[in-house]
Amino acid sequence: MSLKAILDKTIVRIDTLPELDLRLASSSGNLSCQECGERLIYKHGEIRIAHFAHYAANPNCDFSNETREHEETKLFM
Ligand SMILES: [Zn+2]
Repeated sequence: MSLKAILDKTIVRIDTLPELDLRLASSSGNLSCQECGERLIYKHGEIRIAHFAHYAANPNCDFSNETREHEETKLFM
């Protein structure tokens, strides 16, 4: 999971864009991983916090395997 993605060649944080914009970007395939460049999707459910996930799992990407706690820590550094 990741809390950052690339949208229109710019790195965006998940908490800086309106949810509707994130959903539209996700459904149209415009979000990509800053590490590996693969497509990301926006996920926001009842249980887990909003985050980006790889559309197809990528075991070679560090961001694919990070925990929420690790990613949140990096956001505030
Ligand atoms: Zn990736």
